[in-house]
Order: sequence, then structure tokens, then C-alpha cells
Amino acid sequence: MTGSSPDWQNWSENINYKPESPYYFMPKNLAELQAVLAKAKEDDAIVRVSGQRHSQPPLVISSNPARTTYLVDMACYADEATNNQRMLVVSESPPQVIVNPGVREDELDAFLTNNSLMLKTVTAGGFFSLGGMTAVDVHGGTVNEGIFAETVSSFTIIKADGSQKTIAASPDIDFARVSLGGIGIVTSMTLEALERQYKDTLIGSVDFVPWATDEFNEDGFTQTFSALLAQYQQGGRLEVFFNPYAAQLDKHFLALGWQRNSMPVTPLSPEQPYDTCTSADGGEGDFGADYIKDQDLAIGAAVIAQEAGNSLEAALITGTAMLATKGWAEEANAAFSDLWLTQATRVMFMSYFIELPTLDAVGLRRAWLGLNKVAELVKGNGQEFYIAAPMEFRFIKGGSTAMSGTFTSNPGNTYFVNLDLIGFVPGNGAAYSDALLNFFAKVERYWFETLNGIPHHGKMYGFYDPSLDGESFSPEPFNPNFLEKLRERRSKFPEFKTFCKQEDPDGRFYNEYLQLLLGA
Ligand SMILES: Cc1cc2nc3c(=O)[nH]c(=O)nc-3n(C[C@H](O)[C@H](O)[C@H](O)COP(=O)(O)OP(=O)(O)OC[C@H]3O[C@@H](n4cnc5c(N)ncnc54)[C@H](O)[C@@H]3O)c2cc1C
Repeated sequence: MTGSSPDWQNWSENINYKPESPYYFMPKNLAELQAVLAKAKEDDAIVRVSGQRHSQPPLVISSNPARTTYLVDMACYADEATNNQRMLVVSESPPQVIVNPGVREDELDAFLTNNSLMLKTVTAGGFFSLGGMTAVDVHGGTVNEGIFAETVSSFTIIKADGSQKTIAASPDIDFARVSLGGIGIVTSMTLEALERQYKDTLIGSVDFVPWATDEFNEDGFTQTFSALLAQYQQGGRLEVFFNPYAAQLDKHFLALGWQRNSMPVTPLSPEQPYDTCTSADGGEGDFGADYIKDQDLAIGAAVIAQEAGNSLEAALITGTAMLATKGWAEEANAAFSDLWLTQATRVMFMSYFIELPTLDAVGLRRAWLGLNKVAELVKGNGQEFYIAAPMEFRFIKGGSTAMSGTFTSNPGNTYFVNLDLIGFVPGNGAAYSDALLNFFAKVERYWFETLNGIPHHGKMYGFYDPSLDGESFSPEPFNPNFLEKLRERRSKFPEFKTFCKQEDPDGRFYNEYLQLLLGA
């Protein structure tokens, strides 16, 4: 199996890897994948899967890996599990599909539609690989579902020695979900789906929801979201956008919702699935979300607005982004799709899961506190940093997945809110400004220390060193002392590490980032 040496960049462009020797492999079948693993053993290389490259931590690879690293792209991979078709319906009742992991979410979504099925929970865009969505604590907006990986009931992995193993039962499945690529390469997975007989089985809505009170306060927030969540708790999906400048503007949330329709009538029509394999173009192709047109101009303006010393421009850009989001969601709804995000601006995110634990006033107060922290930090003139994008938040059910930010000892009865904070940054690995780092550190201290939040594994975090005083920030994300503190807080981390060592005794998949996160 011969590799190639494309320049590798993640979608956010914070990681740039440009090796000269071949390191990128695109196996089409099990024998080719086994050959890559045999070569990796011979060359004593670390092996990682490269999905749609949307993760921002150096999960796939870093810009300067200390060890030889081989990347495996599964975009064209198929095997017997799917009758070599990459996606296969294996049961109609309950609806189950087996999928090879390089398939993108939107490709699967179209395949499911063509089989009168749909996913239990979806991300906004559909441009991630199933492998990446289940190796990380990726979630959607379905209020009564957990993270996406918890809709998968079994994983087949290939280990470093080329042998295959299927993991379907507890407790191992709790480590196979959100494995961070640390136990082997997932070659197929069984997904639990839902029936969808009509296009309008799910009905989308896009609403500017007025604040219940004149100020952005706890009572108003609780009132609004108690009412809203009551509508979405029976299989509904909800994504909400908060403009932290809205107190001076329109005092609305933007709520994108999808509900089960009790009287659907519109027949399904065949959909053309996205072709993940062809688009990968041997590793040189397009990965993940399309960037918006003229994004360099938009990013340049937003970078300036973030540090303008007043909120005027940042508020304008945030308001414009809310309107664009509304338009995209309306377009998707007209096509009966909940994958509304078809293009995006290259940004960095910090995303935290905060346990509520219930969707009552006490729980919702914690969601409000998390949002309000940001609103307070961007109030008035003279602040060092102003965010220039809305904050997005979604409600998710807790689960038993060891490495997920939604892990709880009381799965099924515990809810989390996920808060997303966006920063505009220059691309191509350029350093983040001190003002941005300091701002993210301030928010993170509050979300992590006060609200006991846990970072999403696919996004940026670790903006401060917990051993230093409250005003400091780390010169780079993923501060090692922060990671140590995170490790101390998560009792499941050592168990997961033991599981990795058991499944992968030679550490073939245990890259530098996992060593930093879990300990060597
Ligand atoms: C614009 C944007 C929007 C986003 N929206 C959301 C959202 O709505 N909800 C959410 O929760 N997250 C969201 N994310 C985060 C994103 O979903 C995750 O980072 C996800 O992991 C990306 O999938 P990917 O295919 O790009 O995986 P990659 O980033 O390529 O890989 C992620 C990890 O999965 C591993 N992996 C991939 N395939 C396999 C396999 N077959 N076997 C073993 N390991 C494997 C990789 O090695 C790596 O460790 C968003 C990120 C961006 C940049």
C-alpha cells in the first residue's frame, strides 16, 4: 500500500503539517488497511485516522509531531460489514444501519432518507465523517438524546496487529464511544436510526424568540426556556443563538427547532448522496464545510472588530451572523432538512458541556450563568475583546460514555447544556492575539471552575494555567497544567487510559496529544 504526502491542514487551519515523505494512506478495503498497519509496525510509526479534519486539538496530528505519524483516510474504505457498499440497512425494526466510518453525515443522511429513515440526532452541518463524529463527543440538538456516539450500538475496530474486534456491550462500549482514536481504527459501526416515511415527518421552524424580561436576567431566561423546552422534549431538536449585545438591540434569541409532525403528508423523493470518496481526491481534495464566499474579508473585519475597544462593529457582525443563520435555516427547512449549515467561516471555537442537571429553574439558571458571563465581559466601551459571533447553545441528555463531557453517573435523568464561543483568528497557524487568549481564559475559568463544565474534545480549550493567578492566560491553548487538572477531575480518564493500553499495548494509536491529555 503506497502512501502520498499531501500538505495536511485542519479545517480551522491551526494545524499545518507538510512532510516530505509519504505518510497519507487511503485504504479501500480491509487488506489494504492491514497492509498500512503492518508498514506502521515496521517503521515504528504512530497511526491516526484523518476524517473531515474539523477537530481543532491535535487529535489527528500536530504541526510538528515528534514521531513518524501515518494518517489513514477512510473516505473510500468499504468492507464486508456493509457488503462493500459503505452503508447498509440491516434491520427495519428497530431501524439499524451499518456504516463504514469515512462516510460523511450528509452522505448517510441522504442514504437514510432514500430508505425512509433518519438519524436520531444530527449536527448542524453534516460535513463530518462518522468516524470523527463518534471518536469525539459530538452532539446535536435533540433534547432527549445523548451525544451522537450514543446512537451507535456497536463498533468494529481493527487493532495494531491487524485483527478485528467488535465492541457492543457495556462496559467496553463506554470506551469505544468517544475513543479519541486511541483504541484502534473503527472500520464499521451499527447505528440506531428512526423511521421517516415522509419529508415532513420532521417540521422545522425558525423564530426570533423575544426575551421574557427587559434585561437579560435569570428569571426571564428561565421563563423563556422552560416554555420552549417543554415543546421540544418529545423528540424535538433545538439549537439556540444568543447575541450578547442584544440588550442594546432587539432582545431576542434565535431558535431553530425541529418537531415530530403528527400528520405528515409530503412524500419522500430520492436524494443524491454526497460523494465523500471522490471529494477526498486522494487526500488533496475538499474536506468538511465549504467556506463562505469572500471569507478573508469577513474574517479580517471580525478580527479588527474583536479588538476595536467598543462593541459597535462586533455587535453589527454578530447581528448579521444571526440573520445569515436564520436565512440558512429557512432554506434548509424549505428542503425538509435539519442539516442547515452548508457553509461556514473559518473560526475557532471553545465549547463546554455544563451539567444542569434538570431542565427546571435551578438547572436553567446554570445555562444562563454561562451565557451571562460572556455578556458581562463584553458590556460597555473599553473592553480588551468583544466577541463577533453569536453564542450557540443546545441541550443534551447525559450518558455513560467515559470520555464524553456529558458523562454522568445518572444517565437518562441528567441534562447538560453545551455552550459554544467563537473567535475569529487569522489562518495558517498564525498565533492568537493576547486579547483573544485572555478573553477565552476568563470565560473558561468561569465555565470550568465555577460551573464545573467540561470541554468538548473537538474544540479549543485549556486557555489558562490553573496554578497561576486569576488574571493570567496561557500563551497557547491546551495548557499542560490545565489538562492535568481536567484529568484529576474526570475519574473515567484513568479507566479509559487503561482500556487504551489493553487494546493497543504498543501504543500505536496513542499519539502525543493523548499522552498530554491522559498521561504517558
Ligand atoms: C465549523 C464546525 C462546526 C462544528 N459543529 C459541531 C456540532 O454541531 N456539534 C458538535 O458536537 N461538534 C461540532 N464540531 C466539532 C466536530 O464535529 C468534531 O471535531 C468532529 O470530530 C469532526 O469530525 P471529522 O470527521 O472532521 O473528524 P477529524 O477531526 O478528522 O477527527 C477527529 C478524531 O476522530 C478520529 N477518527 C476519525 N475517524 C476514525 C476512525 N475510523 N477510527 C478511529 N478514530 C477515528 C481522528 O483520528 C481524530 O482523533 C464542529 C467543528 C467545526 C470546525
